[in-house]
Amino acid sequence: MLSGLYGEIQGIMSRETMERLSTSARKAVEHLQEIAGGDAQEYLDAAIRLYNESLRTKEEEAAAYADFHTSIACFYLCKWSEALFHANRSMETFKKTGNEYRVCLCYNLMGILFATQGDMALAVNMFSKAMGDADAKGFPFISALARANYCEACFAGKEYETLIRISKKAMDLFLKTEDNKERAGNIANLLTQQAGAYLALKKDEEAKNAWKQLKALHQEYPDIPKGLDEMIARLFFDEKFDPESADKDRAEVIRCFDRAQNRNNYIIWILEFMENLRSTNQRDLLAHVIDVMETDLSKTSYPHYQLIVSKYRLDLCFLEGRSRDEIFDEFYRRLYLADQEQQQANRNFHYYLEMQEQLDEEKQKAAKMRLAARTDPLTGLANRRSLEEEGQQHFLDMMEQKSLFGMEILDIDHFKGINDGYGHEAGDLCLKRLGKVLQNEADSHCFPFRYGGDEFVVLYVGLTKEGMEAHAASIREALQPQLEGLPLFTVSQGICIGTPPVSASMEEFLMQADGGLYQSKENGRDRVSIVSFREHQYRALVRQIH
Ligand code: GH3
Ligand code: MG
Repeated sequence: MLSGLYGEIQGIMSRETMERLSTSARKAVEHLQEIAGGDAQEYLDAAIRLYNESLRTKEEEAAAYADFHTSIACFYLCKWSEALFHANRSMETFKKTGNEYRVCLCYNLMGILFATQGDMALAVNMFSKAMGDADAKGFPFISALARANYCEACFAGKEYETLIRISKKAMDLFLKTEDNKERAGNIANLLTQQAGAYLALKKDEEAKNAWKQLKALHQEYPDIPKGLDEMIARLFFDEKFDPESADKDRAEVIRCFDRAQNRNNYIIWILEFMENLRSTNQRDLLAHVIDVMETDLSKTSYPHYQLIVSKYRLDLCFLEGRSRDEIFDEFYRRLYLADQEQQQANRNFHYYLEMQEQLDEEKQKAAKMRLAARTDPLTGLANRRSLEEEGQQHFLDMMEQKSLFGMEILDIDHFKGINDGYGHEAGDLCLKRLGKVLQNEADSHCFPFRYGGDEFVVLYVGLTKEGMEAHAASIREALQPQLEGLPLFTVSQGICIGTPPVSASMEEFLMQADGGLYQSKENGRDRVSIVSFREHQYRALVRQIH
């Protein structure tokens, strides 16, 4: 997972954003970047200082950035719930400031946090979000990173087929990014996982091929280090294809294991290695690895992995024929760890639910805004923008079903006169009244819109010509009674009716309906004129050719 984290830290604040910051916030950011990845406590303190500074100077982008690094520092310090909290708050703030790149990184970071605690389903959910967003917004590097992390989660969950599928795509994406050592390292990591996965699936040829590619990569980039994961993969590979080398490989793994600074980063592979030692009955080596890992893990807090290591401790007790008391002690320890892990899982669950709720709220807000953007505030009818989307859908439905479509344009007669004679407010009331009449007329075959000014559009779907005419007439009729305080007014209508040919567009219907409206106005207003849709000559020709 650390390949991902390293990428997170690398993703430093852009120069443009830096230039917009106040001097004090900028200094805090620079300091943070200098010490990132060093002493975790110092890193955490600096991140919190930046957050406080951003609150003081009201710089949201800097606050989001501070939260992001607070989360990573908490990760190093194994403060899992805090890490999730800050990653989530960072994401919310980046959403507000519109920094989509960072939002993707936040999803990725949350995925890493969940994965580290064994919540693979949640982890994969987050990586998927990061992948989807990064693909949509065009960030191949983050998309590749998220996929690489997704693969590690699959490796831990023994989902080898998926791992191979996703890792291939991740590799393609990495190849689109800048050619450097870091990229080669990321690709080496993917190839190692692929080799392991193919081996587990007993796809020998593919495994050999992945291994060959890995070798070639090392030849091309001699200075990318061979990690512990690769050593362990090599052992598994040789056990199968070159058993004589296996002992040498195992000794090599142990040497590398003893020297490694950051064993927790390779935990998934170390667990595989422990399984290998157990199944090949290498008790002494297994005991050594367990001792080291228990010491490592006890300095931090990885309940999920502690629990797994303790399972091997228990296995070892059996293998070594230990006394019942000793086995009972081990068993009890395991129960205690299981309890701790459960508590941690509950805390994660709590944070996850909180996050989901925030996401839901946001979706509701977005839906409200969408509705507002598609509604005319004066009449409450759908507006022209809505016509372009919703109307288009009805139009295409009728085209597909080869059914009659009717497009009516309706315009108030002498509306200027009403405004001039009774005042603009009276004009508004007339528009409202007409809006209400159209609203009452609306049903699953009749959809009214305010097009603009005193012009309205009504769409008719799944009706006969007579049905449409009846609707149009009932609109005029409903306007006849005089209402108190309101001037009387009439409307003119033009309806274009036809089964939309494949080549036609809604705009053509609109134009021809407008022709109908013009006729109604010419012939004395307060009436409807029906026009049969006439396909444009040129379009008809094109359709015949096809
Ligand atoms: P015609 O019968 O030929 O349609 O004549 P008309 O006077 O209605 O002419 P037209 O349709 O061109 O006039 C539209 C008028 O509607 C012009 C504009 O001032 C007025 N108008 C547009 N939007 C609003 C509104 O929201 N409220 C009010 N009160 N008037 C509006
Ligand atoms: Mg008018």
